[in-house]
Amino acid sequence: MADFDVDLFVIGGGSGGVRAGRIAAGYGARVMIAEEYRMGGTCVIRGCVPKKLLVYGSHIRRDIEDAAGFGWSIPSATFDWPRLIANKDKEIARLEAAYTSNVEKAGARVVKTRAVFEDPHTLRLATGEAIRSKHVLIATGGAPNHGRVIPGIEHVISSNEVFHLKQLPKRIAIQGGGYIALEFACIFAGFGSDVTVIYRGDNILRGFDDDVRAHVRAEMEKEGITVLTGCTVDKVDRHGDEFTSHLSNGSSVASDQVLFAIGRHPNVANLGLEKAGVAINPENGGIAVNGFSQTNVPHIYAVGDVTHRFNLTPVAIREAHAFADTVFGNKPTRVDHADIPTAVFSQPEVGTVGLTEGQALAQFTNVDIYKTSFRPMKATLSGRDTRILMKLVVDATTDRVLGCHIVGDGAAEMVQVLGIAIRMKAKKADFDATMALHPTAAEELVTMRTPAARHVREAAE
Ligand code: FAD
Ligand code: NDP
Repeated sequence: MADFDVDLFVIGGGSGGVRAGRIAAGYGARVMIAEEYRMGGTCVIRGCVPKKLLVYGSHIRRDIEDAAGFGWSIPSATFDWPRLIANKDKEIARLEAAYTSNVEKAGARVVKTRAVFEDPHTLRLATGEAIRSKHVLIATGGAPNHGRVIPGIEHVISSNEVFHLKQLPKRIAIQGGGYIALEFACIFAGFGSDVTVIYRGDNILRGFDDDVRAHVRAEMEKEGITVLTGCTVDKVDRHGDEFTSHLSNGSSVASDQVLFAIGRHPNVANLGLEKAGVAINPENGGIAVNGFSQTNVPHIYAVGDVTHRFNLTPVAIREAHAFADTVFGNKPTRVDHADIPTAVFSQPEVGTVGLTEGQALAQFTNVDIYKTSFRPMKATLSGRDTRILMKLVVDATTDRVLGCHIVGDGAAEMVQVLGIAIRMKAKKADFDATMALHPTAAEELVTMRTPAARHVREAAE
């Protein structure tokens, strides 16, 4: 049909949408991107970027404390939360403008409005305009999920609001034991708030390696964070500026803010998906796609958090780039979702890539575990009571390193680089043959010689 207004309509100007729009326009496609809130999406506006800025800010308290052992006397430092938030907002506004101008420079047209399907090829903008597009990319991301409705849920904030608090809470109760809950628990603890984490299971960070989970929890508790496990928040009462969270175990926690970080759901509601005939994946509630991010409607694709596969920015970007290469660049490209490095920016941070010990045991018959926990050199003079954990999971049959897990300062940076070795299927012998770089914490990764455990699965009779 020759009556299309554009070749590609992208719904959502976040990590995935912006990358797809820019690359498709570069291939000569006529592209329109609709964004209903702020260009840049979750990562830039209320996710990775502002979060990391707060992590940097909160870590400074430890740095100041650590300075004394190195001879520094720092007269009582004071902290100004509104100033940090204002500076952070300025940087986010700069990035938002850069995202818009970069995508426009590439030739795409940005419309600041909500867009929904009217039929498989027609998008209705909130302005009333209808746009007909040859291809459509759904990149609408996800949103915080508060779970079941409990009494007082209106008093609870999510990660959306936490970036805009007028003042630093003296006490904060945080429900959840995943990425966001732990990152904010450590951010607030760093700034001096009294933090209580409330988690429903037996230990935080389910899905991560068990040694990592135990180590992070112990380190957080050493920093004064209270971690309550085996309970949920069942009710929240407000008394003026104070809140009481009533827990399922009968106890209660008083605080000045209550944050829930109990997962996110894909933004699929009220998008007109039924009018377009786009199917949902019943297993995860995201849009169902194949390895090329194509939905059941051949000209409609979906990338990023809305597909609820791996909800990370680099994954959304990679899927979006592959989509544009496939559809507009004549280069069919699948995204390989194996061995994605990931970090939890808790303090200390977690960096991990590949299989956990438990996953390796389920898949391989002979598994060797190398691990070390040690006091970082800096702590000898700073006096800080902290330990770094490093762990390698190795297939003893082939000597291939299957997974690497680190808890400690710099873990995320180390794991980004280790991700290359894991992807290249490096063997433990390659790690051993690599010269150490001294003095670093990372040198432990190439000097662990004796397995801490050797698992051999007996052959079935
Ligand atoms: P998004 O970035 O969410 O973009 C979707 C966009 O679509 C939004 O801007 C939304 O307003 C818009 N939209 C939705 N519906 C419509 C519509 N109908 N019309 C027009 N526009 C619409 N990931 C990491 O890799 N590292 C991190 O450190 C990290 N930290 C995070 C911290 C927090 C607090 C949160 C919440 C997330 C974090 N993430 C992190 C996850 C990361 O932000 C997401 O995986 C990533 O943003 C997904 O990109 P996306 O393009 O799929 O969606
Ligand atoms: P997560 O999935 O990481 O953690 C959710 C937590 O909430 C889990 O501890 C989960 O428990 C718990 N939970 C789930 N449902 C309930 C419930 N009904 N009642 C009580 N507790 C519940 O989600 P987040 O919200 O922390 O983050 C969303 C996603 O965003 C992450 O999974 C990640 O993909 C991305 N992200 C990435 C970051 C990074 O790369 N550094 C940072 C922040 C977010 P259980 O384990 O028992 O299911």
